[in-house]
Amino acid sequence: MVSSSFRWLLDLIFPPRCPICQTIVSASENGRIICSACKKDIKPIQSPYCPRCGLPYYPSEEDGGEEKSHLCGSCLQEQRYFEIHRTCALYEGALKEAIHRFKYGGVFSLVRIFGDLLQSTLTTLTQDYSVDVMVPVPLHIRRLRERGFNQALLLAKELNTRTGIPYAERALKKVKDTPVQITLKKKERKKNLKGAFQVKDHETIQGKTVVLMDDVYTTGATVNECSRILLEAGADRVAVLTVARAL
Ligand SMILES: [Zn+2]
Ligand SMILES: [Zn+2]
Repeated sequence: MVSSSFRWLLDLIFPPRCPICQTIVSASENGRIICSACKKDIKPIQSPYCPRCGLPYYPSEEDGGEEKSHLCGSCLQEQRYFEIHRTCALYEGALKEAIHRFKYGGVFSLVRIFGDLLQSTLTTLTQDYSVDVMVPVPLHIRRLRERGFNQALLLAKELNTRTGIPYAERALKKVKDTPVQITLKKKERKKNLKGAFQVKDHETIQGKTVVLMDDVYTTGATVNECSRILLEAGADRVAVLTVARAL
């Protein structure tokens, strides 16, 4: 137990800083995880969006600001194996910085911020789903050794602590070390992912409603391939939950 005078002294020597932007947080903000400027900079994704992949639509004045709920172009063109994808906020600004600091800088205290965001998004997801198990998108062993942890697994663990929904750490395995998807064209991405994942623990997913977890949704190609093999291995339904979405 830290006495209040000792805490005061500690704060004086090591003033508390926002883990995202590193600015010293004011006394009123002390104890919060991130500063109010960073909090304000996180842009939540709200309706209207594509009911399948969650792509946000920004109604223009021309359509009278009317809310639309229709499938987006990519969901009409491409086969989606997951039923829905829901995400918390746009992958930009403070949230992008936070994810980078978490993933590449190992600032694990940020998992609480992601947990807060994910928990409320999960609540909207579970209106239609009774989730049986969370499955984190795995990293290839080479990438895991480089980084030391799988960010998707840490997110699933954080949600498990908050909700009690179990997670299956070893349900999926990445067996092929693939180049970073973002640098590839759409066709190459698909080819690149073929055979990249395997279901290793059939029992935990058979007949289950699975929520596939990842940090960022970019093209959706990775989660789509994971969803495909989960269904092939006997999962009943697959939904996807991520912290942020790149546009
Ligand atoms: Zn900040
Ligand atoms: Zn869509």
